[in-house]
Amino acid sequence: MAALVLLITVTASVMAGTRLSRPLRALTDAVRNMEEGRAARAEVRGKDEIGRLAAAFNAMAERRERLEELRKAMVGDVAHELRTPLSNIRGWLEAAQDGLADPDPELVSSLLEEALLLQHVIDDLQDLAVADAGELRVHAEPVDVADLLAQVATAHRGGAETAGVTLLTQADGRLQLVADPVRLRQAVGNLVSNAVRHTPPGGTVRLQARRADGDVAIDVTDTGSGIAPADLPLVFERFWRVEKSRSRRSGGSGLGLPIARKLAEAHGGSLSATSVVGEGSTFTLRLPAHGHAWESSEA
Ligand code: ADP
Repeated sequence: MAALVLLITVTASVMAGTRLSRPLRALTDAVRNMEEGRAARAEVRGKDEIGRLAAAFNAMAERRERLEELRKAMVGDVAHELRTPLSNIRGWLEAAQDGLADPDPELVSSLLEEALLLQHVIDDLQDLAVADAGELRVHAEPVDVADLLAQVATAHRGGAETAGVTLLTQADGRLQLVADPVRLRQAVGNLVSNAVRHTPPGGTVRLQARRADGDVAIDVTDTGSGIAPADLPLVFERFWRVEKSRSRRSGGSGLGLPIARKLAEAHGGSLSATSVVGEGSTFTLRLPAHGHAWESSEA
């Protein structure tokens, strides 16, 4: 009898041990695969602690792979963005060296334009890198929103007139914000320059500030090309453009919207967009009226 009880106990212990160690071994193999840079997934069996651990591991592995893909795509995009202006500069300089192009003021100014484009991409990348590291410094102070919109409009009026686009501003009462005026002008300025660029002559770009559930909302609305619903979430991705083959001269770095969104987030706010193809788009920057989110993160 005692022997039978002992046998049953030993058998039960061995079975329980095997049940426990097999999934743990599978998980260890998956971790090792990840360590060696291979695709790693653990089999999820049941809903016990080990099952939950395997599911959490799989979620982590998936996120890591996605980040790795993003990183690779980003390096490729950066190389592509820098290559075009650089090869233009090189091409012109070689032509001048070979006596095929005159180093006249026109050539010098087109070289300067390409160099400025390079500088622009690099400055934008730097802004994004700083924001990614959570080190975007925000020097908050009381800001009069109507004044801020007027300053942005003044800065873009020349460009809008050249493009035949009317720039209008409208602000409710005396809206105040606690924000970094330089960063805020940069964010709204990015939206306005996009809006002007995508609006045909005769169109309108309107900058409007309003109160929205205790926040301040700044809308930049254009009567331009609009963005297809499937493309709308993608416009906030780095280097993403609707017109893939567009001449670089006609546009920015493809980093304007991701930067504007980071700037909004650094203030505890958000940036979103709505659009109707053929009618136009509205980009809305929402910021906490008293800058609470920012003040607490700065402390
Ligand atoms: P870019 O430097 O190309 O303007 P952005 O990040 O600012 O980069 O914008 C990404 C893309 O989103 C643009 O290339 C354009 O295709 C689209 N886009 C942005 N703003 C507008 C707008 N107001 N109307 C239509 N399309 C827009």
